Amino acid sequence: MSPNDPALRSFIEVAPENDFPIQNLPYGVFSTTADPTPRVGVAIGDSILDLAALHARGLLPSVPGANAFATDALNDFMALGPAVWKATRGRISELLRAETPTLRDDAALRAAALVPRAQAKLHLPYRVMAFSDFYSSKQHATNAGMIIRGANSALAANWLHMPIGYNSRNSTVVVGGTPIRRPLGQLKSPDSPNPGFGPCRKLDIELEMGFVLGQGSPMGSMVDEQRAEDMIFGFTLLNDWSARDIQAWEYQPLGPFLAKAFATTISPWVVTKEALEPFRVEGPRQDPAPLPYLRQHGPHNYDVTLEFWLKTAKAGDYARLSRTNFRYMYWSSVQQLMHHASTGCAMRAGDLLGSGTVSGDEKSERGSLLELSWNGADPIALPNGETRTFLEDGDSVSLRGHAQGKGYRVGFGEAEGMITPALTPPV
Ligand code: CA
Repeated sequence: MSPNDPALRSFIEVAPENDFPIQNLPYGVFSTTADPTPRVGVAIGDSILDLAALHARGLLPSVPGANAFATDALNDFMALGPAVWKATRGRISELLRAETPTLRDDAALRAAALVPRAQAKLHLPYRVMAFSDFYSSKQHATNAGMIIRGANSALAANWLHMPIGYNSRNSTVVVGGTPIRRPLGQLKSPDSPNPGFGPCRKLDIELEMGFVLGQGSPMGSMVDEQRAEDMIFGFTLLNDWSARDIQAWEYQPLGPFLAKAFATTISPWVVTKEALEPFRVEGPRQDPAPLPYLRQHGPHNYDVTLEFWLKTAKAGDYARLSRTNFRYMYWSSVQQLMHHASTGCAMRAGDLLGSGTVSGDEKSERGSLLELSWNGADPIALPNGETRTFLEDGDSVSLRGHAQGKGYRVGFGEAEGMITPALTPPV
């Protein structure tokens, strides 16, 4: 039976709206008060299955040699390659099935290997070796272009010919739940002759999907479609926090630098590419046809609902500001990877690539405050009567996402972050 079969059931109860049914099995790194050593687990319902504990008992024979799960990052496991990823996910699925007695009937083993998720601390799931971010939603690029450059030059001349991207920072990629300090930076208002240095006043989010490479490619080589498929291990939610006012002053001529380097949040659970297979869909038609090195021969988009929620310091609850879909991306993750390697740029296991902000055609599908408030011109009304254009101190942001199956969902959990006040700038 395929681990993606909708009919599979676990002996662990999982409600239909829970993000982590047996058809998902996302990987993460966790620790507990009782055992503060970080280790690798998979989320199942409201629990975490401790893979380090299972491997130590010889129950994961697909992973040979040293215990690749008794470590604080997924990199060792990812390095074992796609055949091991597939065999291991199959074995974990088998161990969690309603009809498999190994765990189900062994109370001591369950006590050792199953941890309530609410009691666990979640860590950054892998060592991020490098981080590149793309700009591959046509709706987002069009909106941002109209806001920044005007309606006549919304899409740059190169945009329809390649996935536009830039090399960002891995040093500030953090796991969901990490507070985000409002950045300081150089700012210049249009009516002022000189710049100043102070707290960002246009702090924004970008609702994105991130994907992690489990395999690399050597410098000087290219990556074709099949190889790109094999290199992608899985996906997380990604919030590319952005300082729009710092960006507006610094971005010419080399693109964003510090405006996007101060923080990037990813969700704690890595949903495997294999778990998303049932949700593959065709992306938008690409016209003009991509150059041969970017051509793809199958559907590489995924039907994943993505949401952006906001909770102010005064509000008791989160309010949903946007709901969009990963399927809208003009350039697929596979095309982004083929493009990234196309000059011979070496890719490494543990590299994080961001999709770019995911926006749809509707106003309710915009994946950033820049677009939702049209750069501050159109304040967003919140349910408690407050309004927002950009983020204020004390605001919390939650990105959420899931693919909907029949009677179950393959979910991503949350990527949260709260804004804390800026440092005091030097005078
Ligand atoms: Ca971005």
